[in-house]
Amino acid sequence: MDIAIIGGGGSGLVTAHLLKDAHAVRVFEAAPQLGGHVRTLGRNVAAPGLPPGVVTENGVLGFHRQAYPAWHALVAELGVELLDYRLHTGLFLDDGRCWVTPSALLTARHGRVRAAVESLRSLRVGKGVLARLAPGLLFPPARLKGRSVDELMGQGALWERWFRAGFVQVFSTPWEAVGQLPAELALAYFADTAAPEWSGVRGGVFRYLERIVAGLDADRLHVATPVRAVERVAEGGVRVHLAEGSAATFDKVVFATSPGQILRLLADPSDAERARLAPWTDGPFTTTAHRDDTLYRGARVQVASPSDFFACEGGARFAYNTSLTAAYGVEPGSAPIAFAHGLDHCIAADRVLERHTHQTPRYTPAAWATRDAIQASNGARDTLYAGAWLGCGLHEGCVTSALAVSRLLGGRTLRGVA
Ligand SMILES: Cc1cc2nc3c(=O)[nH]c(=O)nc-3n(C[C@H](O)[C@H](O)[C@H](O)COP(=O)(O)OP(=O)(O)OC[C@H]3O[C@@H](n4cnc5c(N)ncnc54)[C@H](O)[C@@H]3O)c2cc1C
Repeated sequence: MDIAIIGGGGSGLVTAHLLKDAHAVRVFEAAPQLGGHVRTLGRNVAAPGLPPGVVTENGVLGFHRQAYPAWHALVAELGVELLDYRLHTGLFLDDGRCWVTPSALLTARHGRVRAAVESLRSLRVGKGVLARLAPGLLFPPARLKGRSVDELMGQGALWERWFRAGFVQVFSTPWEAVGQLPAELALAYFADTAAPEWSGVRGGVFRYLERIVAGLDADRLHVATPVRAVERVAEGGVRVHLAEGSAATFDKVVFATSPGQILRLLADPSDAERARLAPWTDGPFTTTAHRDDTLYRGARVQVASPSDFFACEGGARFAYNTSLTAAYGVEPGSAPIAFAHGLDHCIAADRVLERHTHQTPRYTPAAWATRDAIQASNGARDTLYAGAWLGCGLHEGCVTSALAVSRLLGGRTLRGVA
């Protein structure tokens, strides 16, 4: 069959990889490069300010060992080299106080004792530690279904704001919108990921997609080629209209865009499709890759980790910084590499490597409730769906949703994945 895949992010490329031996696949990507939220500076995205040989991320970074079995099976099959890192975390208040996880303290080159004392002094986040270690106690799964974060959790206590800051980072959702996240999605994340064992990709996350791309026919990968509309043909098949004016007919189409784009692109949605897809919207989420080491200057201890949360505007909102210095082997003593969200006011212009506005799904309980029906409709009217949003919202979802499409279309699966 001829299959059009719309979107060349992780989901679209993994789908193409699984289908390529059984079918003729063609990938249409609107951006000038493949990768979607995978933005490895120095690989798929150019960053003139990076020292030679250094790569860094301004998007997807990490893969939890236990919670991402399908992704790990895929990269093992592709022969991609991983690197291990620990998910330390820190909370930095604007009066200089800070709390860092004990594991992060071990990474401090100096001042460990002082950092430990400061962390104990800030242990008003103690309930948050309990929630992180045993989320089922505070949030029994039966209470989560159909409810939003706002319905289960306030934002007055420090530990609640710490949780919300975590949701900003994990689900790439602005601070103002995290209260609308489905509790099932947001709080389940902490249940799944209490153990701090994470994989990165040696040489940058895009490396694994590069392996996939190398196995695809280059003539069938179209970057800078936005799709304008998808029309289903009465006698079967779909007609894909490109923004530049041409159109082509395929047997099937796989939407691998963010979910808020799909209804916009469907020229002829049925009432059922409209009902399933209308609750989904996307929104902007900006991250800044940078080499500014002054962010921690006001804190009483300076221990950078991949999940550092900073109080802004007197604690009215929290922003994050993701330090990659250790994970990407940057020489001690040279300027660190990191990416941040919501901290642009603290980052010097001449230290910015790249600023990018991603389009991310705005998860809500109403949108979340439609996912089973969307999965069940896969294949109807020759239309299928892949995307992190159909799974856990993260990269494991790219692979599991691509596997679901592949199974339906007679493509391959992955060794060891049910
Ligand atoms: C800053 C950030 C950090 C993240 N960090 C992590 C992390 O560490 N670990 C993790 O597991 N997940 C992370 N995520 C979540 C991430 O969204 C998913 O893991 C995953 O990368 C999403 O892949 P996707 O293919 O489903 O969607 P996307 O990556 O959004 O890909 C969709 C693609 O469709 C294209 N497209 C849209 N409209 C059209 C059109 N009309 N025509 C053609 N193409 C179109 C887009 O340009 C895009 O390339 C992060 C997300 C962000 C934004």
